[in-house]
Amino acid sequence: MSKIFNCKDFGGTCNWKGQAETLEDLLKKISKHGAIKHNMKGMTEEMRVKIINVIRDQ
Ligand SMILES: [Zn+2]
Repeated sequence: MSKIFNCKDFGGTCNWKGQAETLEDLLKKISKHGAIKHNMKGMTEEMRVKIINVIRDQ
């Protein structure tokens, strides 16, 4: 089973999808994507909780 994150689920129109075997790996990919594409400077605890809420298992 892997974890999936659709950037669209977090609001906005970005079609990026992240996938990883573990939550920690996926969060790393998301924060990298966020930094490059959304000018996101680090991940706050609040953001982390919101992101985790939209991550799905597949
Ligand atoms: Zn995105």
